[in-house]
Amino acid sequence: MKRILIIEDEKPIAELERDYFELHGFAADLVHDGAEGLQQALSGGYDLILLDLNLPGFDGLDVCRAIRDKLDVPILIVSARDEEIDKIRGFGLGADDYITKPFSPSELIARAKAHLGRYERFTSRAVQTGQDQIKVRELVIDRTSRRVYVRGEEVLLPAREFDVLAFMAAHPNRVFSKEELFERLWGLDSAGDIATVAVHIRRVREKIEAVPSNPQFIETVWGAGYRFTV
Ligand code: CA
Repeated sequence: MKRILIIEDEKPIAELERDYFELHGFAADLVHDGAEGLQQALSGGYDLILLDLNLPGFDGLDVCRAIRDKLDVPILIVSARDEEIDKIRGFGLGADDYITKPFSPSELIARAKAHLGRYERFTSRAVQTGQDQIKVRELVIDRTSRRVYVRGEEVLLPAREFDVLAFMAAHPNRVFSKEELFERLWGLDSAGDIATVAVHIRRVREKIEAVPSNPQFIETVWGAGYRFTV
């Protein structure tokens, strides 16, 4: 049985969400504030986190980032207003989806199932031959030796290009904005230019893709960023 953690301070909404999930065969736990929610998310072994953005005390944005730093689990953000969602999409929080209140129960369940399915597909299709090796189709990334093989041939990637590829491959099918990649891989305090992200992606493609102009691994998602596709 899949386990859902609901972090939502408005108890009637949280209970309604829990009821929807339970009705559809999920187990769901409720937490009503951000600090407790974060703690519960990190310790609880959940399959999906439903996170309200407007939480008292501990901001939902910070909770999302903190969970994403530690866990590879679908995070669905719930928020009250469309315009707020437009704004937060650009923040690069690492959330998987955004749902606006009020939402229909069927939409909530459908989206949750879609994201759970996506994570499962990755687990079954990308063969993790070892803890530090990622194998996707004809691409093998060895994170211990920092070596990359394409169709059995080693390709040489400078350190930062390797970091870009290894990071994206470790988070398959998730869209990362340029800003988020820059923040994660170059660091917030880096003086670099955000345009460097696209340059690195292009160089990685030239090395791993059979046809770099039609990439099969690192795809461009127009208006949103890049996705490592499994
Ligand atoms: Ca709230």
